[in-house]
Amino acid sequence: MMSEKETPAVEENKKSLNFIEQIVEKDLKEGKNGGRVQTRFPPEPNGYLHIGHAKAVCIDFGIAERYGGICNLRFDDTNPVKEDVEYVDSIMEDIQWLGFQWKNVFYASDYFQQLWDFAVRLIKEGKAYVDEQSAEEIARQKGTPTVPGTPSPYRDRPIEESLDLFYKMNSGEIPEGKMVLRAKIDMASPNMHFRDPIMYRVIHIPHHRTGTTWKAYPMYDFAHGQSDYFEGVTHSICTLEFEVHRPLYDWFIDQLATDDYRPRQYEFNRLNMTYTMMSKRKLLQLVQEKLVSGWDDPRMPTLCGLRRRGYTPESIRNFVDSIGYTKYDGIIDVSLLEHAVRDDLNKKAVRVSGVIDPVKLILTNYPEGKTEEVEMVNNPEDESMGSRMVKFTRELWIEREDFMEVAPKKYYRLTPGNEVRLKGAYIVKCTGCKKDENGNVTEVYAEYDPQTRSGMPEANRKVKGTIHWVSVQHAIDAEVRLYDRLFLVEDPAAEKEKDFRELLNPDSLIVKRNCKVEEYLASAKPLDSFQFQRIGYFNVDPDTTDGRLVFNRTVALKDSWKKQSN
Ligand code: ATP
Ligand code: MG
Repeated sequence: MMSEKETPAVEENKKSLNFIEQIVEKDLKEGKNGGRVQTRFPPEPNGYLHIGHAKAVCIDFGIAERYGGICNLRFDDTNPVKEDVEYVDSIMEDIQWLGFQWKNVFYASDYFQQLWDFAVRLIKEGKAYVDEQSAEEIARQKGTPTVPGTPSPYRDRPIEESLDLFYKMNSGEIPEGKMVLRAKIDMASPNMHFRDPIMYRVIHIPHHRTGTTWKAYPMYDFAHGQSDYFEGVTHSICTLEFEVHRPLYDWFIDQLATDDYRPRQYEFNRLNMTYTMMSKRKLLQLVQEKLVSGWDDPRMPTLCGLRRRGYTPESIRNFVDSIGYTKYDGIIDVSLLEHAVRDDLNKKAVRVSGVIDPVKLILTNYPEGKTEEVEMVNNPEDESMGSRMVKFTRELWIEREDFMEVAPKKYYRLTPGNEVRLKGAYIVKCTGCKKDENGNVTEVYAEYDPQTRSGMPEANRKVKGTIHWVSVQHAIDAEVRLYDRLFLVEDPAAEKEKDFRELLNPDSLIVKRNCKVEEYLASAKPLDSFQFQRIGYFNVDPDTTDGRLVFNRTVALKDSWKKQSN
């Protein structure tokens, strides 16, 4: 018996189960599959994983983890035309980066022989035939959901003939596109997938694993469920567009299975995100046409792009958790993803000073040649991260936008006659500026108040504005890459009549080459993340060399898009 005290926690836990977890718990309770839970993550190695795949990874691996089962990684490598080992390697790296570990790595191509034998068996049982019509012909005969299809003239050809031709499809004698093997099911079925679906087609391109052994390749629908069966998958979780394939999935398994065990397919809503294109084909195009710098361009929704941008695995997993799994397709606001990384980095990132667009501030009453050290808390959210000493001198870099010669009323930064606090140091009063012949401000002047530093009598005097700074003498030069959304429109995939290249945001990358950051960052390593105070979260780009630091803006501190639309 459960004690009364425990009940609320258990109840709460129940409420938070998603529908897939509920199914798994029910199956376990009923003793299905001998209490076994086995899932798989089945990417096609034809591109890099993106944030949408992360949603699938989290449920496939998450279910296995949660219920003491196993999750295998299975490469769905049934189409040699688009697939490559480069993708296999990156997929494994990205899954592990997210924090998951597969039990085994399998390839659908491992089952080519078993699938072939099963196909031969179906032909012999009169449940499959070789069709010699063109793809167009076959498509024309499909009918519509309300109009039955037309049977192929080859549908009732002798079994021996189909068998012979099927072998020829695989021997290289049959050119691509000349023949396919089709299941003989029901040309009048209301489910279009039952209208004699194609099981095999001919491809003469060598396969990245099986070389030239095979010329006849199984279609997704013929390979996927059977692979699940061969491996002992219990819960085959995929996205909603496969819901209509499920009866066919079950039909093939029913022909194949010699026991009671059945893998079951469950579908959830795929992730679509605003201002983001998720189709692998489109992402490949962006890369090939050099519209981005590569699969790992920090503007890409790929996991390697997000990693380079400064996203943490935790932020991605938290994001996926927050959006949940349902049976309804929708589109998620990309600001939720940005919120997740802000939230995570807020806990982890050291606060530093980085000046993106520097102008020099001279404290005219501060002794020349003097250097003081002021203490900066590394992270106010986490005391254990400690503090560091930062050098303060007469000449400081500040943000150009933190000074205005003529300022509006509520401008609480530097403007002649106004006081601000220099973060962690003194209160200073602006006295003026110097300009070049074009009217650009080249130097800003201020006087500091020696009584206002921490530990001094007026340390707690309040002023309305605080700005960040970097000592000129101690600053390090840096390049900062400011990213914005890659697409200008909310739902680029929906703009079907437009070329997606026209939808690209021309300002999605702005490079600032003249930035100044504090000394502390000299030892920063690629992918390290920091908060540039008052600006946002930045990480070190792998383009960084010994002589030159390069930072990516992961995300601004505040959501600037929200402001614009309000
Ligand atoms: P393709 O367009 O090449 O079919 P795909 O995006 O479906 O690409 P797969 O490699 O087949 O990519 O996907 C592997 C798994 O990830 C599948 O189970 C698929 O359902 C899932 N998946 C793909 N895209 C998303 C998405 N946007 N949201 C959630 N899951 C996804
Ligand atoms: Mg797919």
